[in-house]
Amino acid sequence: MFNAILIEKEDETQSVKLTQVDEAQLPEGDVTIDVAYSTLNYKDGLAITGSSPVVRNFPMVPGIDLAGTVRESSNSEWKAGDKVVLNGWGVGEVHWGGLAQVARLKGEWLVPLPAAFSEKQAMAIGTAGYTAALCVDALVNGGVEPGQGEILVTGATGGVGSVAVALLKKAGFEVVGSTGKASEADYLEKLGASSVIDRAELSERGKPLQRERWAGVVDTVGSFTLANACAQTKYGGAVAACGLAQGPDFNTTVMPFILRGVRLLGVDSVMAPRPLRLAAWERLGKDLDPALLEVIAEEISLEDAVSTASDLLEGKVRGRVVVDVN
Ligand code: NDP
Repeated sequence: MFNAILIEKEDETQSVKLTQVDEAQLPEGDVTIDVAYSTLNYKDGLAITGSSPVVRNFPMVPGIDLAGTVRESSNSEWKAGDKVVLNGWGVGEVHWGGLAQVARLKGEWLVPLPAAFSEKQAMAIGTAGYTAALCVDALVNGGVEPGQGEILVTGATGGVGSVAVALLKKAGFEVVGSTGKASEADYLEKLGASSVIDRAELSERGKPLQRERWAGVVDTVGSFTLANACAQTKYGGAVAACGLAQGPDFNTTVMPFILRGVRLLGVDSVMAPRPLRLAAWERLGKDLDPALLEVIAEEISLEDAVSTASDLLEGKVRGRVVVDVN
């Protein structure tokens, strides 16, 4: 038996609890992992609270991320004792996830735990931090360079935003954080933001073309914020869009794209192919100071995961949440 968060659904009503699960109930997979740490991402918040149909099979163990040690493997790439990380691939949505002491997964989904990080640090990064790295890679590979101007990060105190600020600063960019939490300006400056703007400046419908300000943008918020960010991006700049914290809508015009050559780069972490994952984790290993993870992340127990999921969705959580599952 092992401890797990379990989401069940009966007569269209979802319930969630910390419970004991029999290992015989673990799903199919060629690698069994003793989980050390998991995390709470925005998507885990949606899954646990049931506020969006993230979970597609019931019962479900949520948790889109995990770090742990391989206990048994019939996959030639992994052997008992290997330290591994899992991000996405529908885990915690259609396949049992990381908010449990044991997980059984497909070996092809795993990446090695980067040498720079402990299991706990890798989960302080989690899908949020790995997505931040995918966004920075998208901008850099799209030709955005330090010296071209400021980079805007929206939802800056969130998990993706916090790590994006730190990575961009380390890569030599001047970073401006957009946040609804004026009291967290010091936090963002500690991570590397050179200045902070109030997210209200971006959150209402604006003109299709506005004063050119940003050489690049990491947007975690979507909706009018993304539309305004595009409208304020400089000629030839790029916008990496990965999130929808304000909303999934995107009402705008093609003007920034056809008159200023602005590029909108979509970023997905869930099904990202392995080379992109390895490159993102390499950037994190190289550019993310592990000491900053102490500033960004707080640790909770598996028991606290359910209540913290609600706080996360209400925007009450700063940075990242690491879950000690043991
Ligand atoms: P968090 O909840 O940690 O952060 C989201 C941040 O967005 C909040 O901290 C807040 O920042 C800001 N925010 C919240 N509500 C609003 C609002 N109504 N209007 C404007 N800003 C708001 O989430 P994550 O950082 O983990 O994820 C951010 C987004 O990225 C989510 O939508 C998530 O689903 C998405 N995501 C997508 C991935 C992909 O593969 N494409 C992978 C990972 C995440 P502040 O208070 O500083 O303004």
